[in-house]
This record gives sequence, C-alpha cells and structure tokens, in this order.
Amino acid sequence: MDLGLRGRTAIVAAASRGLGKGVAHVLAGEGANVVMFSRHPDAIEAAAKEVRAAAADGAKVLGLAADATKLTDLERVVKTTIDAFDAISIVFNNAGGPKPGTFETLTDADWYAAVDLNLISAIRLTRLCLTHMRARRWGRVIVSTSSSVKQPIANLMLSNAVRSATTAWAKTLSDQVAQYGITVNCLAPGRIDTERVRQLDEDAAQRQGKAREEVEREALASIPVRRYGRPEEYGAAAAFLASAPAAYITGVTLLVDGGLYRGMY
Ligand code: NAD
Repeated sequence: MDLGLRGRTAIVAAASRGLGKGVAHVLAGEGANVVMFSRHPDAIEAAAKEVRAAAADGAKVLGLAADATKLTDLERVVKTTIDAFDAISIVFNNAGGPKPGTFETLTDADWYAAVDLNLISAIRLTRLCLTHMRARRWGRVIVSTSSSVKQPIANLMLSNAVRSATTAWAKTLSDQVAQYGITVNCLAPGRIDTERVRQLDEDAAQRQGKAREEVEREALASIPVRRYGRPEEYGAAAAFLASAPAAYITGVTLLVDGGLYRGMY
C-alpha cells in the first residue's frame, strides 16, 4: 500500500527521543519532510541527524529547539516549517509526561503544569497548523495520549485525567474540521520501550521496594504480546493515520499497547 506521504510535510513534537523520534523516523522513511522539535538543541540536532540518515530520497529533516509549552516557540516552529516547505500536512502532537502522583501528593501547580504540557500545547500547535491545512483542504492531526485514557494507571492521576480531556478536545475538533479534508485522531501508547517507561519502572521499583527487573517482569506478564513495544512500531501506526488511505478514519483513539488494555471498546 502506498501511504502517499512522499512530499508531505510533518511537524513532530517532542522528538529528540522516544515516541516522537520513532514517529519522525517512520514518516521520513516514507518520504515526508519532517520538522522535529524538542527543548534541547544538542539532543534534537543529534536525533535529526539520525532520522535524516534513514530518510527516503528527497525527504528533508529539520531539527529545532522549542518547548511545547511556549507559544512563541510553537509559532517559530510553524513559521520555520512554512518558510522551508510552504505547507504543513501532518502534525504529531506530543510532549513529556506529567509527574506521577496520587491525589494527596499533587498540588495545584502540578495540575496546571500537566494541563499546559499535555492539553494546551496540543491545542496551540494544532491551531497554528490548521490554518495551513484548511487552506489546502488536507490535513492529518495526530494527538499522542496514553492507554490511560481507556484504563487509568495507578499513580498516574495527572496523565489519566488530563489526557482524557485532550481526547475529548480531539474528538470534538474532528467533527469541526472534517469538512476541510482534515482528520483528527488520537494514538494511545502503552508500554513502548522509552526512557519515560524505564523511569516509571524505576519509580515503581523504589516505591514498592523491589528491583527494577522485578517490576519489569511483572509488567511484561501483564502484556499479551509479552514485550514492550518499539518506538518504530508506534511510528508505523502514526504513519498510517497520517496517510492518504486513512482519509475516512477520524475521531478515533487507536491503542498501540500489545493488548495491555483488556476492555472491548
Ligand atoms: P521520553 O522521555 O522517551 O521522550 C520525551 C520527549 O519529549 C523527549 O524528546 C523530550 O525532550 C521531549 N519533551 C519533554 N517535554 C517537552 C516540552 N515541554 N517541549 C518539547 N519537548 C519536550 O518519553 P516517551 O515515552 O517518548 O513519551 C512521550 C509522551 O508519551 C509522554 O507524555 C509520555 O508520558 C507519553 N506516554 C508514553 C508511553 C510509552 O509507552 N512510552 C505510554 C503512555 C504515555
């Protein structure tokens, strides 16, 4: 199947490592121009170099230092993309994860920070990109959330709550922009092997007084596929949602979790 990504332009947020880098990798491999960003200049340049080396012929890759929680940074990312490629067809909304914690341990400041990081950042970046997508009557908005929107994860109260709000925003938006040839879908990862997941396992090990290996063994036992996912597998799902053949898929949440979530819907 031809995904029709050759020559399209994508912005990929929070892409110096982990899920964002995996998505950038696959999109560039399929021939899309990719503008990838995260906060630290050295880290994003190193990641962009790696993605560039594996890109399809003709696909260009730019790495920019920008913070998803800063509006002026997002404006600069969008302007740089338009200056370089004169179009934005695909936006992959992503950012770091909110801090773990239970109701008693989380402060108002933690709640506001999580809303900024995982909801407002996506609203702002998408708003900036929609202008360009509407003009060409073609667009793919992908919002990276978490399996926690289907099944809350203990000790990740901020993620459970804020990403559910993000999902509701994305679903509502999908209805409002479908008439312009723009789809809006959420991708919900569960246990993809990244630094964030390793850190969460480490935290859980400390909380429970166990070795990290033991926490990992228990986690693997709960995943039907019996392993953590690879960022490129997540990238493949993103590339499909970004593709031309996915034009009739909008307003959905697609889990990429090795079967971790046990519900039917
Ligand atoms: P990661 O720690 O490997 O990578 C996070 C990336 O985000 C890094 O490139 C980092 O520099 C960047 N980043 C963080 N804050 C940023 C900001 N304000 N602006 C720009 N870039 C920023 O983590 P990951 O596993 O790739 O996770 C990405 C997101 O997906 C996180 O929100 C995480 O909580 C969520 N998530 C991941 C999984 C999983 O299985 N990996 C599961 C559920 C949810």
